[in-house]
Amino acid sequence: MRRTHYCGNVNTSNINEQVVLEGWVNRRRDLGGLIFIDLRDREGLVQVVVQPESPAYAQANRVRSEWVVRVTGIVRARPAEQVNAKIASGEVEVVAEGLEVLAEARTPPFPIDAGWRGEQDQVVSEEIRMRHRVVDLRRRTLQRNLRLRHKVVAAIYRFLDQEGFISVETPFLTRSTPEGARDFLVPSRLQPGQFYALPQSPQLFKQMLMVAGFDRYFQIARCFRDEDLRADRQPDFTQLDLEMSFVEQDDILELNERLAAYVFKETLGLELPIPFPRMSYAQAMNCYGSDKPDLRFGLELADVSELFRGGEFRAFADAEVVKALVAPALLSRREIEELEAIAKGKGAAGLAWSRYEGGAFSGGIARFIPEGLKERVRLEEGQTVLFVAGPWRKSVESLGAVRLELGKRLGLIGEGFRFLWVVDFPLLEWDEEGGRWTYMHHPFTSPNLEDLELLERDPGRVRAYAYDLVMNGAEVGGGSIRIHRRELQERMFALLGIGPEEAQEKFGFLLEALSYGAPPHGGIAWGLDRWVANMAGEDSIREVIAFPKNKEGRDPLTEAPSPVSEAQLAELGIALRTPNG
Ligand code: ASP
Repeated sequence: MRRTHYCGNVNTSNINEQVVLEGWVNRRRDLGGLIFIDLRDREGLVQVVVQPESPAYAQANRVRSEWVVRVTGIVRARPAEQVNAKIASGEVEVVAEGLEVLAEARTPPFPIDAGWRGEQDQVVSEEIRMRHRVVDLRRRTLQRNLRLRHKVVAAIYRFLDQEGFISVETPFLTRSTPEGARDFLVPSRLQPGQFYALPQSPQLFKQMLMVAGFDRYFQIARCFRDEDLRADRQPDFTQLDLEMSFVEQDDILELNERLAAYVFKETLGLELPIPFPRMSYAQAMNCYGSDKPDLRFGLELADVSELFRGGEFRAFADAEVVKALVAPALLSRREIEELEAIAKGKGAAGLAWSRYEGGAFSGGIARFIPEGLKERVRLEEGQTVLFVAGPWRKSVESLGAVRLELGKRLGLIGEGFRFLWVVDFPLLEWDEEGGRWTYMHHPFTSPNLEDLELLERDPGRVRAYAYDLVMNGAEVGGGSIRIHRRELQERMFALLGIGPEEAQEKFGFLLEALSYGAPPHGGIAWGLDRWVANMAGEDSIREVIAFPKNKEGRDPLTEAPSPVSEAQLAELGIALRTPNG
C-alpha cells in the first residue's frame, strides 16, 4: 500500500477513485457517530469521513491531533452545503475504508492546525516556537515561506546558469575575511594554539576566482559574523554572492536588475519595473535621512539652513544644517514628544516644530519661522513642520528616523515592492573611537578613479565604486568594483592604517594573487534571508530560516552554544579562563 496522492492535492478529478493518503491528523471531530479527520501533509488538508460501520472506525476513534496515519478510502463529492472554499480540496472528501496508525504523538505544545484551515494561527511566544521548532515548522506559513525560499534559490540558479555563471563552493574553515564584524574562530586540533576563522563572506575567494579566470561566479553562501545581535541579525546567514570580470559598475547593476525581475516573475508572478532608480548616497541622506530610503512613501526632508542662518532663533542661526520635514497632519503635543524621543535617540538635540493652521503658524517655534519657509517646504493647511538642527549626519539621520515613524503612523506606506540603487558611497568614514579612517564597504573596494588624487590628501571626499540595493527601506544587497592592482590595494591598506607587514601577514595571499595578472572585476552579495522575508511579507528573517537563532544568538532547539568537556578542550590545547580572568 503506497501513497497515491498528497492530501492537499485530492480534488474533484479523483471522485470515485480509491486513494491512499499519509499524513498528520490536523483535527479530529466526533459528530455523534461520524468521525471527521482533517488529514494534512505539506500540500494541505483533505477531509476524511469515517462511518461507524467502517473497518477504520476503531482506529479513527483513537487518533488525536498530530498522529501520523495512513488512510485508504474512496473520494466523493461533498454535498453543496458542505463545500469548504477555504481549502483546495474543499469540494471533496474521502470515505475511509482503512486507517492505520503509523505514529502516535504527544499533544503538541501549541496548536498549529488553524492556518491550514485558512484561519489565523494562534500567537505563541517566539522562544516557545523556537524551542519546539519541529512542530512550529509544520505550520502553514512556515511551510509556505521555506518553499518560497527554495523557489527563489532555484530561480537564481536557473537565471545565473543561463547567464554563464559558475557556482563554486568556497571554504568555511579559512582565514579572516573582514566585513566589519568579529570573526567566529574554530580551534585547530592538529595545530594547537592556531585557529581557523569562519568566513564573514566569500569575498577574497571570489576575487581569487576572478584572478583564476572563471569570469562569472556565484554561490548561495553561508556567512558568519560575530556581531552584537540587532533585532534582525543572525550570526550565520545566507548570501547570494556573485562576482564578474571585465565589467564596470553598470554591468553589475543591470545584471542584478534582470535577476531580480526574473526571480519575482518566477516566484510571485510579479513584474518588477526595471531599471531600478539610482540615487547617490548624498542625495539619499539629504532627502530621506537614510542610505536605504523607503520609497514606498514621499515625505522628503528639505534643507532650510539658509533661511535660518544668522536669524534671531539662536539655536538654528549658526547650526551646520537645519533640516525640515512636513508631516501631512496637525500633530498633537504628545505625538510630537514621541517623535522627538525618536530623533533624540538618533543624536538630535531636539525636535522643533510648528503647526500651520488657518493660514498661520502656531505652537512650537511659530514666532521664529522665517520668511519663505512655507514655500520652501511646500507647507499646506493642516500640516505640521518639524525641524532638526545640528551636525549634518546626526540631523539628517534623526529626521530620517522621524520620517519613517510618520510613514508608519500616518499609514503612508504603500503596497508592493520599491527598489532602488544607492550609488557613490564614500570610500571611507572617520572612526571617532579609533581616531582613523575606516572602510565603508570593505578594504577591497575600488575608489572612484576620478577621485584617486584625493586619496591621501582628502580621504573623506573620495567616492567608491560601491552600491547598495534597497528594497522597501531595507538594504538587500551591496557590492563594489574591486581594486585589481596590487599597488592600489597596498595604498588602500596603508590608508586604513594597515602597515606593509600586517598587510603581508593577513592578506599576503590576496596581494600575491593580484600580482599574477588580475582582471578588472566586481560583484555584489544579496542578503538572501531579507529578500525572502520581504517577498513573503514577513517582518523578521527568522520566519524564513528553518532553524534560526534567537536574539541572544542561541538556538533554543539544540541549545547551542553549549559547554564542552575538559577532554575536548585539552585535545584542542585550550584552557578556559575563569570568569574573573
Ligand atoms: N562581500 C560583500 C559583503 O558581504 C559583498 C560584495 O562586496 O560583493 O557585503
